[in-house]
Amino acid sequence: MTDNLTSIVALDARTSVPLEKTPLETYVPPARPSLIGLSRGELAQCLGAIGVAPAQRKMRVQQLWHWTYFRGARNFGEMTSVSKEMRARLDERFTVDRPEVVAEQVSSDGTRKWLLRLPSGDRLEKAHEVECVYIPETDRGTLCVSSQVGCTLNCAFCHTGTQRLVRNLTAGEIVGQVMVARDRLNDWADRDTPSGGRLVTNIVMMGMGEPLYNFEAVRDALLMIADNEGIGISRRRITLSTSGVVPNIIRTGEEIGVMLAISLHAVRDELRNELVPLNRKYPIAELLQACRDYPGASNARRITFEYVMLKGVNDSLDDAKRLVRLLKGIPAKINLIPFNPWPGTDYECSDWDQIEKFSEYIFNAGYSSPVRTPRGRDILAACGQLKSETEKLSARERQALRAMAMTD
Ligand code: SAH
Ligand code: SF4
Repeated sequence: MTDNLTSIVALDARTSVPLEKTPLETYVPPARPSLIGLSRGELAQCLGAIGVAPAQRKMRVQQLWHWTYFRGARNFGEMTSVSKEMRARLDERFTVDRPEVVAEQVSSDGTRKWLLRLPSGDRLEKAHEVECVYIPETDRGTLCVSSQVGCTLNCAFCHTGTQRLVRNLTAGEIVGQVMVARDRLNDWADRDTPSGGRLVTNIVMMGMGEPLYNFEAVRDALLMIADNEGIGISRRRITLSTSGVVPNIIRTGEEIGVMLAISLHAVRDELRNELVPLNRKYPIAELLQACRDYPGASNARRITFEYVMLKGVNDSLDDAKRLVRLLKGIPAKINLIPFNPWPGTDYECSDWDQIEKFSEYIFNAGYSSPVRTPRGRDILAACGQLKSETEKLSARERQALRAMAMTD
């Protein structure tokens, strides 16, 4: 998997602080690679490698696709319409493994968080971890998916942004998160689900990482998740959130066609430079122009503007007025997010009555302005809290691995 990040690291001229971090690692595939995340063309090549004749490959790919993404088979043995001999040949060279689940936490509000282990190329840093969160609501079940280990960027109020380690997830590791959720929730096509319908109905790319700095893998994964011969979650139910990587916003509309969310958080460049340092590269005016040009945006398919409520920083009525003015002409909805604190942050969440006043002003100006209820705070699964517990776990794990290496 190529790494598209090394070339885009830019230094801010004034401060010499990097706006973007260089990824420290690239993906090293295991000896028996997983087929999860491969396109139909790539699957055909794998079949060629185990001696399947060209004329047979299309049909075999269809079988594999159906068993893997529609039925959720966890090994080739389950694929009973494939000949035994072929299953054995597949099993010698490949797997349909998903990322390994190392912990599952269930919040008092029903939110579930999975800690997933991913391979890395280095022996002592043997595993990386990402988190994936399932949020059940009355009319839907939303899965919050990660795109990177850590984040390439460093927004001031975000815990993930403080992480040093960065690796882009592969398309398979992104699709794999949805598969893990379906496995754990018993949510595949022909299995009984408690509600009778599907549990994971919506996807938000709002976990760890900046999805538009891992564009190709995110695109390939989302197209696979939307494929209606497989997982089949429609593009209108998939939302990609970005802190504002302008050149890839139009590509998102053209090449993926999912719903867009923008992490705006400030209405003046001076403040946004501080909160979302990427703003120094792509200031508000450019960002909003990309939104105006976003293919497929309409009143029925609005762009969501996320706005984290920080006490005394960006929550005045004047900010609300300016926000309404800025978004004029863009089919928009505004999502106010109460700030979720994390150890070591100087920011505080706005007072509740201030959030209400802010929300009311926006509502009266004609925007739907739901305040996002924090979910799963007790298991650190809320926005911007991801990875905190994991870091502790990694330190312990690293120590154990080091001890093992020394006794080898
Ligand atoms: N990197 C992407 C997507 C992941 S973050 C992005 O920034 O858009 C998902 C959302 O959570 C973003 O709007 C982000 O700004 C917000 N967020 C980050 N830290 C937060 C915190 N501590 N409290 C509330 N929201 C936070
Ligand atoms: Fe990265 Fe998004 Fe956090 Fe910013 S808010 S550091 S872009 S995850």
